[in-house]
Amino acid sequence: MAQRQFQTEVSQLLNLIIHSLYSNREIFLREIVSNASDALDKLKYLTVSDEAYKGIAFEPRVDISFDKNAKTLTIADNGIGMNEDDLVESLGTIARSGTKAFLEKLSADAKKDSNLIGQFGVGFYSAFMVAGKIEVISRKALDERAWKWSSDGKDGYEIESAQRDSQGSTVILNLTDEGAEYADRWRIENIIKQYSNHVAYPIFLTFDDKEYDDKGEVKATKQKTERINEGTALWRKAKSDLKDADYHEFYKQIAHDSDEPLFYLHTKAEGALEYSTLFFVPKKAPFDMYHADYKPGVKLYVKRVFITDDDKDLLPVYLRFLRGVIDSEDLPLNVSREILQQNKVLANIKNASVKKVLAEFKKIAETDSEKWLAFITQFNRPLKEGLYSDWANREELAELVRFKSSAVEGWTSLSAYTSRMKGDQKFIYYISGGGGENTLKSSPLLEAYKAKNIEVLVMDEEIDDIVIPSLSRYKKVTGLLDKDGKESSQEWELKSVNRAGADEELGNTENKDAEKSAEPIIEKIKKALGERVKDVKLSRRLLDSPSCIVADENDPSIQMAQMMRAMGQAENLPEVKPILEVNGEHPLVKSLAAIEDEAKIADTSAVLLDQALLVEGLKLKDPADFVQRLNRLLSAGA
Ligand code: ADP
Repeated sequence: MAQRQFQTEVSQLLNLIIHSLYSNREIFLREIVSNASDALDKLKYLTVSDEAYKGIAFEPRVDISFDKNAKTLTIADNGIGMNEDDLVESLGTIARSGTKAFLEKLSADAKKDSNLIGQFGVGFYSAFMVAGKIEVISRKALDERAWKWSSDGKDGYEIESAQRDSQGSTVILNLTDEGAEYADRWRIENIIKQYSNHVAYPIFLTFDDKEYDDKGEVKATKQKTERINEGTALWRKAKSDLKDADYHEFYKQIAHDSDEPLFYLHTKAEGALEYSTLFFVPKKAPFDMYHADYKPGVKLYVKRVFITDDDKDLLPVYLRFLRGVIDSEDLPLNVSREILQQNKVLANIKNASVKKVLAEFKKIAETDSEKWLAFITQFNRPLKEGLYSDWANREELAELVRFKSSAVEGWTSLSAYTSRMKGDQKFIYYISGGGGENTLKSSPLLEAYKAKNIEVLVMDEEIDDIVIPSLSRYKKVTGLLDKDGKESSQEWELKSVNRAGADEELGNTENKDAEKSAEPIIEKIKKALGERVKDVKLSRRLLDSPSCIVADENDPSIQMAQMMRAMGQAENLPEVKPILEVNGEHPLVKSLAAIEDEAKIADTSAVLLDQALLVEGLKLKDPADFVQRLNRLLSAGA
């Protein structure tokens, strides 16, 4: 029997788990029991949905036994089982797509890694923290043959033919000296109660029950098997019967998170549709939240029978960070994937769930600022995705998303912004673009707004440039009733200050004299810059800076165009040219009136444009050219 090698990533992961999780190693039992429970889920589903499996006599259960002297701990299930290929695939490689990405994120800092590993779920391999050798004897449902996988968790594993009476898997841990403490009745019972109490199947423990005589001596020893978990589907219980600790334990089990959830939402619907939902918001965004192949975190059950944990349509994509359970009374047990997709019942549950979840977010936003801040720090961005993907709920979402602002520290809501507005302010202003919060906050485009004490929202996330134009208006419901008994509301348009024309809204009216005297200067710059700009204008919004760039009313913003180009999505995008606005009061601009030397006009004009691009955090096409021109101007002036 030849030894097979672990995939390199497996060895890496094993090493990391063993070293970084050591102080919390008892979780290995939760991981093995969760796998057993998943295997029972899978077979249970097949026995109700697939003719071929209906003949299997199946009383799902997990059995734990131990031998103190031999230092072994055995966990057996009668679930779906694994054949030879499954064993190689599941226990010899890292098949889960997110795992590689996870490993890439690892640093030399073991502490950080152990946090990461908590989010990610360590799985089967964690058992090597307590076992020097593991054997898995498994027989797949409907197969005749059984297989034994064994490994010391170091270089590789072996697979050989084995015996098993019926389907399922038996995991035998040969405990190390330090791991020997887990071959103990109370230890096992406590760990199971703590971590796996709500696994939906009975977990039995077999142990030696000693009978004592009057003198306290062992009279007889009998083997006993007792059920040690509660085994009810937690989400089906009444809220009043559950404590925070119950929810937290359940969350850790289903989300493979070592941390507690930030908050949870448990609802039961009765009436036309009957279902229970239990959703958790993790403290930290799942590590694969921004991977296209993220793993959905919500499991679907029908009448307590597990159906799937791999359906991305159960909730909208932007709520992919939620963990939890949907359990319906009204779906058939043998639902297929195709049926799920167009199922009305499920669509209704989905819509109602989204509404409930958003209402819960709102409640937290209004009542618990600390929790809300923790939430926003992690999940503001997915909520913004909702603004353009979930039209039905965009008004609710617009109340939830948060922005940075020129006027306040931290985050602000649109509602809070509008209540700070000055009496005659007509629009919600925002500045967007790359370069980060600080670059945007010091943009010359904000000078006139600052001077007038007008607040401008600072949209420093890439997604803002996509989301905000689609939002375009914000409607605030005041909660008051108008004379017709309708709830009154007020609406504002969102305006980018990066656009030509935004200055007019500032109330800075045209100054004919200034326009006229600046005309020759503007002409000189226009001629010098030629094709590099769409237009050159005298600015009405600059105070201290000599120049700024803006986008034409209907063009995408310059930053957006640059971003799309960087993502290789700009093939059909015509080149977007900026409009250059110059400050007629600035000495650099004024100096142009007297200059006739074409080379010097060209240098000054180019520097006016390039510095305006730079200050917006944009990249120059030819930085060397900018530096040369700047140096020429500086030495001429000296
Ligand atoms: P995870 O459970 O997160 O997928 P694990 O490393 O714990 O990761 O397990 C890897 C895979 O091995 C599982 O996805 C499953 O396919 C298989 N597996 C583990 N334990 C069992 C079991 N008791 N019965 C059937 N399959 C199992």
